[in-house]
Amino acid sequence: MAKVVDQERAGSTGPSTFDVERIREDFPILGRREHGKPLVYLDSSNTSQKPRQVIETITEYYERHNANLYRAVYALAEEATSMFEAARDKLTRFIGAPDSGSVVFNRGTTESTNLVAYGYARKFLREGDQILVSEVEHHSNLVPWQFAAQATGATIRAIPLAEDGTLDLTDLESLLTERTKILAVTGMSNVLGTMPPLKQLAEAAHAVGAVILVDGAQLVPHSPVNVQDLGIDFLTISGHKMLGPTASGGLYGRRELLEQMDPFLGGGEMIREVHLDRSTFKEPPWKFEAGTMNIAQEVGLGAAIDYLEGLGMEAVRRHEQELTAYALKRLGEAGARVFGPTDVEHRGGAVSFWFKDIHPHDLAQVLDTEGVCIRAGHHCAQPLMRILGVPATARASFYIYNTPAEVDALVEALEKAEGIFVA
Ligand code: PLP
Repeated sequence: MAKVVDQERAGSTGPSTFDVERIREDFPILGRREHGKPLVYLDSSNTSQKPRQVIETITEYYERHNANLYRAVYALAEEATSMFEAARDKLTRFIGAPDSGSVVFNRGTTESTNLVAYGYARKFLREGDQILVSEVEHHSNLVPWQFAAQATGATIRAIPLAEDGTLDLTDLESLLTERTKILAVTGMSNVLGTMPPLKQLAEAAHAVGAVILVDGAQLVPHSPVNVQDLGIDFLTISGHKMLGPTASGGLYGRRELLEQMDPFLGGGEMIREVHLDRSTFKEPPWKFEAGTMNIAQEVGLGAAIDYLEGLGMEAVRRHEQELTAYALKRLGEAGARVFGPTDVEHRGGAVSFWFKDIHPHDLAQVLDTEGVCIRAGHHCAQPLMRILGVPATARASFYIYNTPAEVDALVEALEKAEGIFVA
């Protein structure tokens, strides 16, 4: 892989040069051995590993700064509050949001989509309205809309998958009409890597008066994102897939929309005034942050953002494109049927495949004995599996710490599995 120096964005909390071997030293878990073999972690679309900078930030938070937010006037609580809000400022900058009032913290993408489905869709949709999704969506970008449709009488339509693994936008005009109120689409598929043209979709949605929500679970960790350039209304963010702790992340929402929306969860801290029979609420983002928050996790996410910004997201994306291109080539040569687009300019590093008619679960088990971690299953995308005509796929997914040698290890392990299952 090329070494990319990006001095301008150099952070003090991680390497400023894209040197994979140097990056790997920051991830203690990568030193682990599995069944006597070096750990080859190819499941970052599921959850990413964490650098010591993130782990140390969390430890330090609990050892030196822990207190609850906003509620107390002592110095320790003010410190915890300012660390939490500093993390919000970092996430705001990272996704190009106009101000931190448009960034809500919560447990990640699933909670964010539910927040919009509850606070926006249930409030504004009526019978006969439509929600447009796509056939490649993760369950977390389908099920919340199904709940909202059931509650409002709206219906769900889907942009179809094209043969080449992209979204087929040929009939977009008939799918996206003045009846469409929400377009909810992935920024990067967790199964196929597909990256739809978000700017074009945002313009098309706005032209018919709909809002667009982008499922950013895979996009934000792996590619530069600027919500204002894209012109999108909502973006969901999974901290645990971008080097951050589990249960970190949140939702970007256009400020006017967040203001119009109903709160999602009720409780302490999200209120302005409470009477026995009614309440008024704080302004966004706090209106959507009820109860004690995931403070240490979001502070840890702030450290993860520092780390990624130190490398530069352009360099992160470039590294994964190179690795994905290499994986597509090696898997193809080994006889795997690879799903999804082939052009790495328009796809991410989640590579799903079917190998020699070996069930993906059997494959994953044999690979595990070789120290290689891949995911096997429907990847929370059952409608897509039906369209692909398979019960499951095997999936290798890459991140900043993966190397071409690990792609080679994957292919060698596949050949071993072939020796076991294919006589
Ligand atoms: N959307 C996509 C495309 C995903 O890959 C995932 C997780 O795998 C999710 C949503 C759910 O994200 P979270 O774990 O933050 O709820």
